[in-house]
Amino acid sequence: MDTKAVIELERKYILQTYVRPELVLEKGDGVYLFDTDGNRYLDFVSGLSVNALGYNVGMVQEAMTAQAGRLIHVSNLYHTVPAPQLAEMLCERSFADRAFFCNSGTESWEAALKFARKWAYKTFPEKPKYKFVAMKNSFHGRTYGSVSSTGQPKYHKGFEPILPGISFADFNDLESVEKLVDAETAAVILEPLQAEGGIHLAQPDFLRGLRQLCDEMKMLLVFDEIQSGLGRTGALFCYQHYDVEPDMMTLAKALAGGLPIGATLMRQAVADAVEPGDHAATFGAHPVSCAVAIEVFKQLSDPAFIAGVKAKGEYLYARLGEVRDRHPEVVAEIRGKGLIAGAVLKDVAAGDVVGAFRERGMLVCMAGPDVVRFLPPLVIGKGHIDEVVAALDEILNGS
Ligand SMILES: *Cc1c(COP(=O)(O)O)cnc(C)c1O
Repeated sequence: MDTKAVIELERKYILQTYVRPELVLEKGDGVYLFDTDGNRYLDFVSGLSVNALGYNVGMVQEAMTAQAGRLIHVSNLYHTVPAPQLAEMLCERSFADRAFFCNSGTESWEAALKFARKWAYKTFPEKPKYKFVAMKNSFHGRTYGSVSSTGQPKYHKGFEPILPGISFADFNDLESVEKLVDAETAAVILEPLQAEGGIHLAQPDFLRGLRQLCDEMKMLLVFDEIQSGLGRTGALFCYQHYDVEPDMMTLAKALAGGLPIGATLMRQAVADAVEPGDHAATFGAHPVSCAVAIEVFKQLSDPAFIAGVKAKGEYLYARLGEVRDRHPEVVAEIRGKGLIAGAVLKDVAAGDVVGAFRERGMLVCMAGPDVVRFLPPLVIGKGHIDEVVAALDEILNGS
């Protein structure tokens, strides 16, 4: 099928919830993607932080076909082999004691909200404690609980009323959280690195202050590491850059090498409040996703691999910093950590820059209207970073 026919079919039959460029991606290999016209693209999006190991990864395909040959699905009415093995690995390498598996980021966040409320209900039976303090500018997904806790009014518009009991503090402003917290607050919920909201990293004092506040007020601290987790920031989990641990944390994107999966990790105190029948997901703990995730996690959690991400991240910042210094009139700031970076632009639309990259055979994406987001596969080389930085320079010279 040719490119034009695919796009016409899409425009006719697919619900138009995305604006996509005029190309159809057909295959991938390593850090490159290829479209139906045979054009090659250096990928600095990695399927929105999903394809951390790149494309056409033999180990992913082997794990997938081996498990598919044994068993694809039986539901959670029965034990299966891969899920508990994956849960053990995630718990041993994090703060957590237990894992719940589902199929996407938003679903893992919905589960976290439900478990937090159930924990509060069981722990404080005599008084209502159900509120959440979330952050402005956050992003937690598009289902109702997740979108209700997303602190960006544009995502609520037309869908109100949203879930009650959620208020929004200023990110990195402890006082603004303290003002919103009361005896009915069950949890403070946030991304330690706001990704979609423009690449904002939490300050150490802010997270430390939140941990202390949550302990004092008997609230849970819940982190969304759906995008920042699993090596992306140069640590296995973003919270490990800080001496602060959450009580619950969500993972998804990179966990199963491109297959759908979500995980909600929690301490035993939260797990104790959840009983059989409280929550479920027919496809959750999917044997194929979990079997692939076991192999992907071995790689992503390898200390040498993470050290490599950290080093490449430092290189990326140094090089992007040079671009900022050369173009102070259009680049306001470079933000991020590890291999998630945002170039904050002024007087130039990020969408135009994304388009100019595409014309040069490179894919990058946006994080809001004025931020160009760089999210390469973690297996990228320094030479690829040089290519993208040179292209950015060239694009900004022309703007
Ligand atoms: C992508 C993302 C989500 C939503 O994940 P989906 O799989 O798209 O539902 C939630 N939180 C963060 C931080 C994300 O980056």
